[in-house]
Amino acid sequence: MLDKVVIANRGEIALRILRACRELGIKTVAVHSEADASLKHVLLADESVCIGPAPSVDSYLNIPVLIAAAEVTDAVAIHPGYGFLSENADFAEQVENSGYIFIGPRADTIRTMGDKVAAIRAMKEAGVPCVPGSDGPLGDDPETNMKLARDIGYPIIIKAAAGGGGRGMRTVHSEANLLNAISLTRTEARAAFGDDTVYMEKFLERPRHVEFQVLADGEGNAIHLGERDCSMQRRHQKVVEEAPAPGISPEQRMVIGERCAEACRRIRYRGAGTFEFLYEDGEFYFIEMNTRVQVEHPVTEMITGVDIVKEQLRIAAGEGLSYRQEDIAWNGHAVECRINAEDAETFLPSPGTITQYHAPGGPGIRVDTHIYNGYTVPPYYDSMIAKLIAHGETREFALARMRGALAEIVIDGIRSNIALHQDICSDSAFMAGGTDIHYLEKKLGL
Ligand code: ADP
Repeated sequence: MLDKVVIANRGEIALRILRACRELGIKTVAVHSEADASLKHVLLADESVCIGPAPSVDSYLNIPVLIAAAEVTDAVAIHPGYGFLSENADFAEQVENSGYIFIGPRADTIRTMGDKVAAIRAMKEAGVPCVPGSDGPLGDDPETNMKLARDIGYPIIIKAAAGGGGRGMRTVHSEANLLNAISLTRTEARAAFGDDTVYMEKFLERPRHVEFQVLADGEGNAIHLGERDCSMQRRHQKVVEEAPAPGISPEQRMVIGERCAEACRRIRYRGAGTFEFLYEDGEFYFIEMNTRVQVEHPVTEMITGVDIVKEQLRIAAGEGLSYRQEDIAWNGHAVECRINAEDAETFLPSPGTITQYHAPGGPGIRVDTHIYNGYTVPPYYDSMIAKLIAHGETREFALARMRGALAEIVIDGIRSNIALHQDICSDSAFMAGGTDIHYLEKKLGL
């Protein structure tokens, strides 16, 4: 097993990684900015290194300093968590070139998946169903592009190959706007991502977001852990996630899951990964792959019993997968609410000191959080402060437990979105299951 790991992240995921390391007997190094010395995992880690001032660019995004932290502590590997440098191919490359293990895929895999056109091509070759579209980058000939859009059928969406975080996309409803939309998206993409490659896809009007979790050893072995539904979103940010996705049959799960696993075998994928799909009228359409652990991984853990972070560590140590596909069984239902330090009306971050924190509990309740009484939420980072996860034999029981936990949890001193979660978890359409990605914004009147 790995001897010592640098946890190149903060907050709840850093604590989650620390716990997995402890279970496997791995020593831990916490790195933190000047604003984060009192993070829970920093206090629990075997060693800690301050890596710079509060702004992320000077600390959690500072590649040389992170590698230096591994050097001075004699660590053997770096876990990037999610966000920050987790999908940065240059970081992965520099970590490995400096002689450390990057806990994630090889740099070239991250690079391919970061280019959406290349990712879609790789997935098509592996038989993963994709959105009908231009089959590669758009050229400059107006006639060809107009014919392409007509053949696909309006509405269509123009997307930047290098896009991310919901940026670099434009929907087109009729031919009159097509050419202008292509050139605008190109200009924006060049400015934002330094790459003006764009492509065209059919625009799906009321899809759900359904994603598949995979684990692969980098040697051509891969399994899938089924799917999650993350359709409850605001501004492309997931708010509530669940597993399994309502209404997906076991047969469909195995067919699509196996295609994803097969894609991983073909590209010799290494580590944990997620295939994101839009799901509409019973069909799956691949949109992108995430090459890291996801925020919402616990819902999959709760129904499969697989510890995804421990698997990441085992794979990185070269120990391979601890499960075969036939070992994976899905048990009950799990829901996750992302608790954010934010204003209920404006959704603006609400940093500050937590004067009182009471954790909910009872059967089937899991809380992944770094907060504690007296902890001060700094203003510099993402506003997510906790993930509340409820498991039950059925979706109905899982939601009942979640409502109970939301009634129990107390976070005083700062504002939070607990009331929003109470509202969602007793919403009749959500309770029926299968709401689309626009549902929450419509409900909020946005
Ligand atoms: P990003 O990398 O910026 O997250 P994605 O390709 O994952 O970009 O798309 C982000 C979101 O944009 C999707 O979750 C969905 O809401 C919307 N979207 C993307 N492609 C389509 C499409 N073909 N039809 C409808 N909505 C789409």
